Amino acid sequence: MLLKPRKPLEPGLKQTLRPAPEPAYCAFCRNALAAPPRLRGPTDLHGAVCPRCAATYIADPTGKQGGEALMTALRIMADGDDDRAMGLREGIDYDSRVLAWSESSNEVDPSLDATRYGVGRLWFFRARGLADA
Ligand SMILES: [Zn+2]
Repeated sequence: MLLKPRKPLEPGLKQTLRPAPEPAYCAFCRNALAAPPRLRGPTDLHGAVCPRCAATYIADPTGKQGGEALMTALRIMADGDDDRAMGLREGIDYDSRVLAWSESSNEVDPSLDATRYGVGRLWFFRARGLADA
């Protein structure tokens, strides 16, 4: 039996280019963001508020502090009121997003899965009722 010539690769089946890392930006409004400073209080976390849309962003350089980042952001959104913080519900009172992020370069990498444990990331939390940018 004769071997047929190999079917040429479909021209439309090009390998998609990986999106390149970019300087850190807000996951809600895409405003450029400086590397967040260390937060005040009993925490090692770094975080800040987006100056354009008021989203709270928290750095999680090891990708292992998502729970702590969430609790800290809730407290910030509730102005330090723990009872109010505990009552905030995602999708009702606030929205959250996450971007893979490198602490050393302060760049986000859209090609990485930021939800994977151990991937450095920036967490974003924005209270509903804040104006959309
Ligand atoms: Zn923003």
